[in-house]
Amino acid sequence: ESDLIAVRGLRVSFGSDAGVARVLDGVDLTIRRGEIMGLVGESGCGKTTLARSILGILPPHATRIEAGEIRFEGRDLLGLGEKTLASEIRGRAIAYIPQDPFTAFNPVFTIGTQIDDLMRFKSPLLRGGALSGRDRRRQDRARVLELLRMVQLPDPEGVLRKYPHEVSGGQRQRLMIAMALLPEPQLVIADEPTTALDVTVQAQILTLLKRLAREHGVAVLFTTHDLGTAYEICDRITVMYAGQEVEEAPVASFFDAPSHPYTRKLLDSLPSSENGIRGIAGEIPRLIDPPSGCRFHPRCERATEECRTTRPPPEAVAAGHTVRCHHPLEGGA
Ligand code: SF4
Repeated sequence: ESDLIAVRGLRVSFGSDAGVARVLDGVDLTIRRGEIMGLVGESGCGKTTLARSILGILPPHATRIEAGEIRFEGRDLLGLGEKTLASEIRGRAIAYIPQDPFTAFNPVFTIGTQIDDLMRFKSPLLRGGALSGRDRRRQDRARVLELLRMVQLPDPEGVLRKYPHEVSGGQRQRLMIAMALLPEPQLVIADEPTTALDVTVQAQILTLLKRLAREHGVAVLFTTHDLGTAYEICDRITVMYAGQEVEEAPVASFFDAPSHPYTRKLLDSLPSSENGIRGIAGEIPRLIDPPSGCRFHPRCERATEECRTTRPPPEAVAAGHTVRCHHPLEGGA
């Protein structure tokens, strides 16, 4: 297994009238080829900022990348110019499936027109260039229909003639997955891709995403606040807390023997049959003035003086399982 992407020591801050918020502060993340990595944490923990940093789509105003690197296939994406990112990486080698697929479509054009445009810019089929215009269009259309069948859209020809508002949310998300896979990417970033959908459709979309990732050997970075969802589809999970990663593990080890007290609390807060979700005591820290040392210390029952002063380094507790905690749990308790 080899690393496809390695984020090291990434520090990103956002400026606002209230001050500077360190939204990512020394984050490490590794995604291997072909694996589904779940990036899990409460809202505001930095998972979306991390996903957007990899895509190079952080809001330009008031954002500063202060330190770190994002190595993709050996190249540091932070060192590439916008032109290279746009022409070689974003939407090509690294594709994106957004939370709300509706905003990704232009309401005034049919879905077919929008996919044709995308085809013209992104399809690897076009690189050869030996085909005449008509043959190329025919080949492109055949490839699009193949992709739409692959994402199990009923009546693919009919869908291409429709406008975005004429198809359901679930169908739009299937279209987004098809469009993301069109350039044959190595990594797909799916940022809470099922949040806008109802539960039954969510499950269908997740199953589809997992199957396609497996069949195409595509790695997926899947952000979610829901551990149950991560359990369903991920190979490994990284937990983020207040702008830092705190634990990374293969899914079995993660659920059998969580090592970080925050992970334990997240697992304990999973909905237990009819009782609904139990919250975690204490508040998510303000990132303008975060707690010193381990950022979780104000909410942690195991905290000691060392926790209040020093950020724990990553330590291996089992094969492929690392945790940042001075007093990790053993055997999950
Ligand atoms: Fe708790 Fe200390 Fe571990 Fe942080 S480092 S999670 S405060 S025990």
